[in-house]
Amino acid sequence: MIDNAIFEGRKVAFQTLGCKLNFAETSIIGRRLLERGFREVKNGESADVCVINTCSVTEVADRKDRQAIKQMISKHPGAFVVVVGCYAQLKPSDIASIEGVDLVLGMQHKYDVDNIIEQIAKRAEGPKILRSERDDIDSFAPFCTQGGRTRFFLKVQDGCDYFCSYCTVPIARGKSRNASVAETVAQARLAAAEGAKEIVIAGVNIGDFGKTTGETFFDLVKELDKVDGVERYRISSIEPNLLVDEIIEFTAKSKKFVPHFHIPLQSGSNDVLELMKRRYKRELFAEKVSKIKSLMPDAFIGVDVIVGTNGETKEFFEDTSAFLKNLDVSQLHVFSYSERPNTQALMIGNRVSVAEKRLRSERLHELSEQKRVGFYESQIGTEHVVLWEDKKKGGVMHGFTENYVRVETAYRKELVNELTKVELQGFSADGMSLEVKIL
Ligand code: SF4
Repeated sequence: MIDNAIFEGRKVAFQTLGCKLNFAETSIIGRRLLERGFREVKNGESADVCVINTCSVTEVADRKDRQAIKQMISKHPGAFVVVVGCYAQLKPSDIASIEGVDLVLGMQHKYDVDNIIEQIAKRAEGPKILRSERDDIDSFAPFCTQGGRTRFFLKVQDGCDYFCSYCTVPIARGKSRNASVAETVAQARLAAAEGAKEIVIAGVNIGDFGKTTGETFFDLVKELDKVDGVERYRISSIEPNLLVDEIIEFTAKSKKFVPHFHIPLQSGSNDVLELMKRRYKRELFAEKVSKIKSLMPDAFIGVDVIVGTNGETKEFFEDTSAFLKNLDVSQLHVFSYSERPNTQALMIGNRVSVAEKRLRSERLHELSEQKRVGFYESQIGTEHVVLWEDKKKGGVMHGFTENYVRVETAYRKELVNELTKVELQGFSADGMSLEVKIL
């Protein structure tokens, strides 16, 4: 066992790329290193250790990872450089070939701070790779961590067994797994004791929660709802086939689960959904949307869509666009497809050119903006509760209503992390938020 005293005061710098889950996971690695005596680097200081948590969702993400690693190495000369995350799992040798990288950790080793500490103490010559085979990735511990000074993130699940044809996540993160409802709820209770007012429920395929414990995501939802102190829960993103009617009905009645849904559609063409190996047809998606809207007319519904996947002909894209136009949703999150190694989509012909992908993406971004503006307009004059965030920009601060309308008001420190009743007014100067009257 290494004496923690040798790390006392050593400085560590973190950099995270990719999704919110990655940010939450970096904070857990950080917390464990700080417990071992490290302190986080302050502005302008050089770090002794750098930890970079990477993403590999697209080719662009891989490129950004490499840039970030190189920037960290030049900003902190001589530091011990550790790279973790999806890119580290999928392309460890690429990362190890970057001069200055000391340790590349596969998914199973990501939180193994004892191991990281040991490698730092040894500092062997040349980069070291600790690989993880997909079948060996089985560790999981739920945690709830604070993102900024307001929302907390509760990680309830990791991995995915779906193998959609375009996606590398099941290879990068391993099998779907979770802890029990009781262990997961215990983390929410700890967060409540730390002052958590809003918790975002996060994971890779959270609707799959329960696979390893014989429980269901709905079981978890019902138990979380009983935790004293937490005032709001948001479900980060859930597959449409796993968003069962019971969850929608429960949310409509719950005082804590907010009317905000984020549901990945990916394509509005049944032919493309089949090529993508998604587990539903667009009719099921439309049913879920109308069920939500019939019970919660003011619910915000965000939808993920991918344009330009292999096999998406012009006709299929037009089909998607028409389907989305008629769907009562509030915003689209539009992604352009990029080919990923070792995925089944590489076998599909009929590739879409870069220029065409850009055009399709622009069209759906425009549609998304129309939907967002329309949704915000429909909310003007209604009353909601806002949780205010801590960032001050140009003298104003922002927050979100329970139904995910971004709002703005003049900065007042005492509002940070407070829930306030408001009436929604007109659009802010940049059109991205609504002004409020605080009630
Ligand atoms: S459900 Fe599909 S897109 Fe989502 S992580 Fe699993 S394989 Fe990837």
